[in-house]
Amino acid sequence: MIYADNAATTKMSEAAVNTMFSLMNDCWGNPSSLYSHGQKAKDILEKAREDIASVIGANAREIIFTSGGSEADNQAILSAAAQGVKNNKKHIVSTAFEHHAVLHTLEKLKRYGFEITLLNVHEDGLIVPGELENAIREDTCLVTVMYANNEIGTIQPVHEIGEICRRRNVTFHVDAVQAVGHIPVNVADDNIDMLSASAHKFHGPKGVGFLYVRKGIILSNLIEGGAQERGKRAGTENVPGVAAMATALKEVVNDMDEKAKHIASVRDRIISGLKEIPHSALNGDAFKRLPGNVNFCFEGIEGESLLLLLDDKGICASSGSACTSGSLDPSHVLLAIGRPHDVAHGSLRLSIGEDIKQADADCIVSSVKETVEYLRGFSPIWRDLMSGKKEFIL
Ligand SMILES: *Cc1c(COP(=O)(O)O)cnc(C)c1O
Repeated sequence: MIYADNAATTKMSEAAVNTMFSLMNDCWGNPSSLYSHGQKAKDILEKAREDIASVIGANAREIIFTSGGSEADNQAILSAAAQGVKNNKKHIVSTAFEHHAVLHTLEKLKRYGFEITLLNVHEDGLIVPGELENAIREDTCLVTVMYANNEIGTIQPVHEIGEICRRRNVTFHVDAVQAVGHIPVNVADDNIDMLSASAHKFHGPKGVGFLYVRKGIILSNLIEGGAQERGKRAGTENVPGVAAMATALKEVVNDMDEKAKHIASVRDRIISGLKEIPHSALNGDAFKRLPGNVNFCFEGIEGESLLLLLDDKGICASSGSACTSGSLDPSHVLLAIGRPHDVAHGSLRLSIGEDIKQADADCIVSSVKETVEYLRGFSPIWRDLMSGKKEFIL
């Protein structure tokens, strides 16, 4: 099997599994308990907090553990909104191609009277900082922009956006779930106020993540209860999960540049191979993208059929995001970068990890080529395109 769906989830690293296993066996005390068995768990939790903070250039006191990226996104946005209500600032700036954890939270706020400006994402899959600055108003309480897109892998100009937000005195949240552990992320360098990350996207366990909250930013609770996480996130801590997340993160950032170089070289081999397919196009900028992301549109086919046939050939890929597969709507990300509905339907995302080999790239390319040709053989849209009844877009 070739696993090329790391943007959906990653395999846990052996070290992370070992950390989790040994803690579940030996260190199952409640970190809030005062006896030593509980305090040992507390020490492990705090050590993980320090390790994670140091990877992103934060202070340990600025890290809140959550159940994952979605919870972190919700808490960050709803906290900024609560401050907005207090200060009579009910406008938020974001982009049209955020993850649904962000977009659906913003839609909820709209129902509570917030105004939301979703910035245009250009054909290259990037937003323009100047346009973001123009969208900021007197009553803007939050700018939330993702670091790297989960479908097309494009990396946003976060540093420039952070500068603008700091200068304009607006809170800046970044969904960095696809970035942390894959590219260098530093909250201090980039003037980031809040940042979401998720362990299962960097070889840690599912159901655990963290929210970075810069000192001075006021956080509201999503979950009320005990005083865990400095009173900002109630519930007995997931000590094995958090410790395994720290293990995984330390491991992935070790020699990250080397690993990224290898992954990107395989990525580029796949991209140049798939480009040979007629009436196809790479989605998103070729350079400002995650090392492991390949996303293509092939005219005249359905992405779902393509990925099911690839599965038969032992390749795990995705069409659009995992959250929308099963629905008939094309990806909101591909629509946001201006792909028409028909074209957006024929999309394929491959997200590769460090275990990928150059030979896997060749296998992927030949399998995709073969399958696209096969599907086009009986596609009515393709027939219309070939007979000139419909015009090619790509
Ligand atoms: C996966 C993902 C999330 C959600 O994270 P979970 O830990 O699965 O809740 C949020 N944002 C982006 C960009 C993601 O890729």
